[in-house]
Amino acid sequence: MTIAQNVAHILREIPSGVQLLGAAKTRKPSEIMEAVDAGIIIIGENYVQEAEQAQREIYADIEWHFIGHLQKNKVKKAIELFDMIETVDSIELAREIDRRCAQTGKTMPVLIEINSGREPQKSGVLPEGVEELIREAATLENIKISGLMTMGPFTIDPEGLRPCFKETKELFEEIKLLDIPGVEMKILSMGMTDSYKIAIEEGANLVRIGSKIFGERTG
Ligand SMILES: *Cc1c(COP(=O)(O)O)cnc(C)c1O
Repeated sequence: MTIAQNVAHILREIPSGVQLLGAAKTRKPSEIMEAVDAGIIIIGENYVQEAEQAQREIYADIEWHFIGHLQKNKVKKAIELFDMIETVDSIELAREIDRRCAQTGKTMPVLIEINSGREPQKSGVLPEGVEELIREAATLENIKISGLMTMGPFTIDPEGLRPCFKETKELFEEIKLLDIPGVEMKILSMGMTDSYKIAIEEGANLVRIGSKIFGERTG
């Protein structure tokens, strides 16, 4: 199957109202372009430098989401390159994005990344810390909190991720009900190649798919 066929297949399969992000880490600009030509309108990148290279060659009118772990010293570059940062998990990172955006007059939509598997050393804020982080980050003028994102732990059986997706969806609804000024719970980003069907069943409205679009990663 070609990249274009894979994209067409997934787009036919996911319900309307669920957006498809192509997770493009290690992929060549020509491969990303093939996915875009087949109808992908959101590309996710894990590395600032890879995004910079890809954007030199891809001029299509698409959205670029940052989905990796963002180091503070890369924030300045990241806000030039991305339309959304999906992986905000600390007030320090939120403040740095806000500060850099203020310098250029930009407002950055962000998602809050949840460590739904409660794994030590993993990125994401623990479920019990989300409300506090969102209340604090909501006071920053140059970021716009637009939803939640989670990865979940690595598991052989993707069914093992269902409780993580369920809990993240519950948080999403709870935070929505809090009605915090400036906070919008609109995007729930969860699910990858092996788990996106389960994630959609549990309420995801943005799925991030790499291998099923571009093939198994070799690098
Ligand atoms: C790589 C990656 C994906 C896609 O993973 P696949 O299993 O290849 O679909 C999704 N989200 C993030 C954050 C990733 O790093």
